[in-house]
Amino acid sequence: MKPVTRARSAWRTRRAPFRCLGDNGGVPLDTAASAELFARARAVTPGGVNSPVRAFNAVGGTPRFIRSAAGAWLTDHDGNEYVDLICSWGPMLLGHAHPEVMAAVQTAVARGTSYGAPTEPEVELAEEIVARTPVERVRFVSSGTEATMSAIRLARGFTGRDVVVKFAGCYHGHVDPLLASAGSGLATFAVPGTPGVPASSTELTLVLPYNDRTAVEQVFAEHGDRIACLITEAAPGNMGVVPPEAGFNAFLAETCTKHGALFVSDEVMTGFRASRQGQWGLDGAVEGWRPDLVTFGKVMGGGFPAAAFGGRADVMGHLAPEGPVYQAGTLSGNPVATTAGLTTLRLATEEVYDHVGRAADVVKTAAAEALTAAGVSHTVQSTGTMFSVFLTEGPVRDFDDASRTSAAGYAAFFHAMLERHVYLPPSAYEAWFLSSAHDDRAVQTVVDALPHAARAAAAAMGGEA
Ligand SMILES: *Cc1c(COP(=O)(O)O)cnc(C)c1O
Repeated sequence: MKPVTRARSAWRTRRAPFRCLGDNGGVPLDTAASAELFARARAVTPGGVNSPVRAFNAVGGTPRFIRSAAGAWLTDHDGNEYVDLICSWGPMLLGHAHPEVMAAVQTAVARGTSYGAPTEPEVELAEEIVARTPVERVRFVSSGTEATMSAIRLARGFTGRDVVVKFAGCYHGHVDPLLASAGSGLATFAVPGTPGVPASSTELTLVLPYNDRTAVEQVFAEHGDRIACLITEAAPGNMGVVPPEAGFNAFLAETCTKHGALFVSDEVMTGFRASRQGQWGLDGAVEGWRPDLVTFGKVMGGGFPAAAFGGRADVMGHLAPEGPVYQAGTLSGNPVATTAGLTTLRLATEEVYDHVGRAADVVKTAAAEALTAAGVSHTVQSTGTMFSVFLTEGPVRDFDDASRTSAAGYAAFFHAMLERHVYLPPSAYEAWFLSSAHDDRAVQTVVDALPHAARAAAAAMGGEA
């Protein structure tokens, strides 16, 4: 954990003693190798990417094909280095290629990679999750999408009801009934829903504005006895970071209980990321309530495809083979993936969260200062160590507010950062992620690039700003 201790003293006091990558004299980066790979990719893969937000459709330009990553840095096929502010969209809390995680994975790989039989790392990872979060039982799956899909099936099976309530702008993976008014790539590309999802599947989904207690009360008053569950991001991060207002999650939990519905807290993004105990560590653990079901992914997989759902023992007891609700997976609880997740969580101490939180504070403060200096309307919102920057006046309380962020301003901002070796999410609707490997040099590279990006945004927004 060297970077954690090394970086502690330095940020605010010292100016960059190292070669500043951002000072490239305005010479554009070479992207020939990425462009060539992108052309080949497009010939064999829709849009050239295996997940839509990786494309640069919303910001324009050539997506960078990454050859390797170490610590806080990505290296693309042209040899350009970037400070990574995506961290694989959340998972890489310890930075890339963490030596202890790599060593544990290599040991696990040498023992064979999948047996289709239970293993010790699964038990240990489940124990770690139960120890840190409000869940009593856990079932592993391979993606966050599977986790929310399974949680909803279980909620329906447990309650014998069909209706699911969600919030506009919350993304829960590409699960048919949850794609109604979702965030993430759907917000980025202004896709209101998606073809291929039958109306019968979204008919049973009721979508409400986030942070709106009256809307929740009304929908439960009207449909309470048909609602199987309410699912929400524990703190939305897929429309940018829109924190729950004080007591909102507690109110949701209480409303669900009152009406015999389950409260499903989606912590795929926030789990082991917003804090050591996820978003729940910031509200439920303090206020003394628990969700009925929780979904996890991202950080708990340590960069491998592993995710989970868990919750109350009596509810989880309805899952096969203990109960009648069927759910399964060939690679669920894969020994290499669970070893990576377990090693990551064991290394993710309070010290790691303190470090990530401090690094995030420096970056978000510098971003706000740069945008203010450039005269750009903005608001920076955060929950725990997660934050995002909206190019619109705040506060941003729900998806309608988030939608006012300037797409043109963000595209200019994004490319100015990229030219200065900072890799932001290629979408205005995503959180920015740091890691315990973001040391002085990485953070200073971001801080130095921000004023240029803010001026680029101001120019692109013209009269708007
Ligand atoms: C990323 C995400 C998912 C989906 O996880 P995948 O592993 O991409 O399927 C679900 N819910 C939330 C809140 C997420 O951020």
